[in-house]
Amino acid sequence: MTRIPTLVHTLGFPRMGAQRELKFALEQHWRGEIDRAALEAVGADLRARHWLAQRDAGLDLVTVGDFAFYDHVANHIQLLGCEPERFGFGGDEPALSRYFTMARGVAADEAAPGGHEGCAHAHTGTFALEMTKWFDTNYHYLVPEFTPATRFALGSERLFEEVAEAQSLGHPVKAVLLGPLSFLWLGKEKSEGFDRFSLLDALLPVYEQVLARLKAQGVEWVQVDEPILGLDLPDVWRHAFERSYWQLARSAPRLMLATYFSPLAENLRLACQLPVAGLHVDAVRAADELTGVADWLPAHKVLSVGIVDGRNIWRTDLDAALARLRPVADKHRGALWLAPSCALLHVPFGLAAEHKLDPEVKPWLAFAVEKLDELRVLRAALDGEEGTVASALQAARTAVAARRSSPRVHRADVALRLARSVDGDDRRAAPFAERQAVQRARFALPPLPTTTIGSFPQTAAIRAARAAFKRGELDAAGYAEQMRAEITLAVRKQEALDIDVLVHGEAERNDMVEYFGEQLDGFAFTANGWVQSYGSRCVKPPIIYGDVARPAPMTVEWTAFAQRLTTRPMKGMLTGPVTILQWSFVRDDQPRSVTTEQIAWAIRDEVVDLEQAGIGIVQIDEPAIREGLPLRRAGWKPYLQGATRAFRISASGVADRTQIHTHMCYSEFNDILPEIAAMDADVITIETSRSDMELLRGFGAFAYPNEIGPGVYDIHSPRVPTTDEMVRLMRKAAAVVPPAHLWINPDCGLKTRGWPETEAALANMVAAAKQLRAEL
Ligand code: GLN
Ligand code: ZN
Repeated sequence: MTRIPTLVHTLGFPRMGAQRELKFALEQHWRGEIDRAALEAVGADLRARHWLAQRDAGLDLVTVGDFAFYDHVANHIQLLGCEPERFGFGGDEPALSRYFTMARGVAADEAAPGGHEGCAHAHTGTFALEMTKWFDTNYHYLVPEFTPATRFALGSERLFEEVAEAQSLGHPVKAVLLGPLSFLWLGKEKSEGFDRFSLLDALLPVYEQVLARLKAQGVEWVQVDEPILGLDLPDVWRHAFERSYWQLARSAPRLMLATYFSPLAENLRLACQLPVAGLHVDAVRAADELTGVADWLPAHKVLSVGIVDGRNIWRTDLDAALARLRPVADKHRGALWLAPSCALLHVPFGLAAEHKLDPEVKPWLAFAVEKLDELRVLRAALDGEEGTVASALQAARTAVAARRSSPRVHRADVALRLARSVDGDDRRAAPFAERQAVQRARFALPPLPTTTIGSFPQTAAIRAARAAFKRGELDAAGYAEQMRAEITLAVRKQEALDIDVLVHGEAERNDMVEYFGEQLDGFAFTANGWVQSYGSRCVKPPIIYGDVARPAPMTVEWTAFAQRLTTRPMKGMLTGPVTILQWSFVRDDQPRSVTTEQIAWAIRDEVVDLEQAGIGIVQIDEPAIREGLPLRRAGWKPYLQGATRAFRISASGVADRTQIHTHMCYSEFNDILPEIAAMDADVITIETSRSDMELLRGFGAFAYPNEIGPGVYDIHSPRVPTTDEMVRLMRKAAAVVPPAHLWINPDCGLKTRGWPETEAALANMVAAAKQLRAEL
């Protein structure tokens, strides 16, 4: 029997453009340099090019609806007509300017993007929608707001216009929507005691309308994303799927229900049985479930297999992929589609622009464009046309084999180091209380000691020097001299401010992960590997391709230089293993925990070298610990055990007299307090000011044993906090945490601020500390 031909599609495509055209157009528009029509033209041009790229790669359908000028969830807020009332939009304001108002707030300043300013401007009623992470990715979406007054109505023509646009270009269209349950789930209640689930019945009719409109346009397939099927859902939400989809099926074109990022687990049968025409599953993150899905999915439904990793940049092992696909193709009698595991939003555009990438590593990679091509090859091979793609299969084979056997990937010295680690390598010599006594005697700091989180303003002069150095216009000696001048300036200013524990200011660092990755073995860097983080912001994550080792000290010279300038303790500043991992593309040929541990040993070497150089205090930043949590609770414990162990390995090579700090940014800590305590840092500084110290209550209730510096002011805003304000916050802190355990510091690093506001704020902070000491 001949199979129905396999079809290929993508769940979504990167929207920024090969050269980040969208970013630059958006920022020009926001600065008032180009008008709305010009911005729309850039959008239309990018969509046209991206659809063409999909057709050129042999995809059977182009995906429409994945484009957004800021965020796809925000697009849905307009599509579904639920712009929050608090924005007070009049009828005459154009949709796109309302959209940017929701995304960025009114008079939002570039340095302090929308969502981060929430509480600061709460009284004006024009603060932006909150931003939060899209599942466990580094993409941030705008959070829909729901109240009992929320109403839904078809509110935007944009999706239908984009469909028409693609059709007029002659493309077969698959439209994509975020499903109603995921849309509701991802939003947030904005009134006490209200449950957003109660809005479902009001929401579904609008989805019906949207689907009916798409059907009337001749759209044959609509991909409906319901990624929340991969979460631990309350029963009411799970049970709502079936009736919701029965209701939608009435008026809809054929629906392809898309799930991704996480195993379906207890929702697997539910997903297979919903009244839709097709189901997409993530065969990378939920590899073990593929056979089960093929068993459960009725033969009349299309099975879309997310076989190519949409979350990572590795070239697919096509032979292995085919070996997994063939039995599925045999088992599932219905139609088979191939796709990336999720939307390609999370990977860079393409490799064509990478002229400087490590030539050994480059053939091991596949970005969005290359992933589409992999799908084409897989389809041909699966449909018995192996001969037509023999050379592509061979090229993949060669690259995969080269990667597997490269001595830069597998290093005996690194393996040996991990194998030799013994019990206790992740423990400080003495328990905290003893260390605390030794450190107190050594540093003789006043009560409520003051410090900062690491970075000082990255001024235009610093950035210009780095750019000139990179372009070769400034030599290494000249660059170093300028950085030393910046460090000297920072030290002198801190002394003048009378801060107790100083930092060198991180002038020499471009980025807290890239700076270390560039000096560690096992990392590669792209020139153009940008991935959207939020709005117009993109990040360029390093690629961890091989065993990680530290060939030479990375920060010792700068830190020791800074220490020589002052008699006050100089705090060394490092990024922790979990954060380095979390903000990189990570190798997929060994468990993430092993890679984390390799980084941990490299950081430990640096900590020990700092100690040797006379640095008595070292901070190891771990802002990303919480965001690495697996989507399902069942994965939390093993992850947290590995993460805290990695941190302790990095921190435990030093004597008890050396004080280890860690730092974490704004996040919910309360559900992981035992693990934060298990990191056993002598001091933790956290972002707390915008929670009005509420975050600290958990630490108090839990009786967190070590010292804590709760941030006393928000560094996202240029506003200078008053001494009184900070005194008030610290009094609140002292009510829940023993004052003898408290430090005083800002919420986070100051690199995005200017010097005048930084100095003014820190002067007030030190004054607050002195006032409180007098009260003790
Ligand atoms: N040490 C870093 C800084 O001050 C910490 C940054 C962060 O927590 N994100 O910039
Ligand atoms: Zn921070």
